[in-house]
Amino acid sequence: MEVVYGIIFFVLGSVLASFYCVLATRLPEGKSIIKPRSHCLQCNHELAWYELIPIFAFLFLKGRCRNCHKRIPFYTFVAEFVTGLLFMGSYFYFGFSYNFYVSLFLISLLILIFISDFQYMIILDSPLLIAGLGIFFLKFFYFDINVALYSLRDGLILFLFMFAIAILGKFLFKREALGGGDIKLSFIIGMTVGVSYGLMTLVLSTFLALPYATFSLLTNSSHEVPYGPFLIAALCIVFLYYDKFSYILNLFM
Ligand SMILES: [Zn+2]
Repeated sequence: MEVVYGIIFFVLGSVLASFYCVLATRLPEGKSIIKPRSHCLQCNHELAWYELIPIFAFLFLKGRCRNCHKRIPFYTFVAEFVTGLLFMGSYFYFGFSYNFYVSLFLISLLILIFISDFQYMIILDSPLLIAGLGIFFLKFFYFDINVALYSLRDGLILFLFMFAIAILGKFLFKREALGGGDIKLSFIIGMTVGVSYGLMTLVLSTFLALPYATFSLLTNSSHEVPYGPFLIAALCIVFLYYDKFSYILNLFM
């Protein structure tokens, strides 16, 4: 039965990821997510049902549109496969538990933010809102209303902390250092892991972003580096290795 559930969550992950790819490319351009139906971005050829099957469609079509033979973006295949694996892995790691359901929200944010922030330098509001509500209700159902309310307080503290850093950064460097999306995402970080682990998440995210930022400063003239992917990646790492981070935290306290 374990294996069956594992497969179910792999399929669920890859189906959701194919929806996230649509969300992350249509919403930033102000397009509807329902109409038109899924189509080739190059020739507008409407996709048949079998061209919508995650992972297999890409393999079956050898990564090219059936109509115009132009390449289908490879990241859609990667997103579908990776999300499937992460959903399945979370199930095997956590089982049906509070952590498992929270991790599904975090993985979804991870994939969405990777696509939209790297492509459009934007973090969409609606997925953040849905994840925030989801985590709030999970805390309420698994614990109680106090735990849920405290998570809002922790989210607010981290939000204000990032907001202060953004203002300071603007004052010091005379330009936007942090986007509004990064600040909103900090709310989710505080909500999910609390203030002290949240601050550790912020520290970890700067370490994760450093190699990419250095590389991009050297090679890219625009000097714009998306920070969201590193924030959400750091959150996933802290969430997954809670015990290791609590050891580090105890050293400081
Ligand atoms: Zn096409």
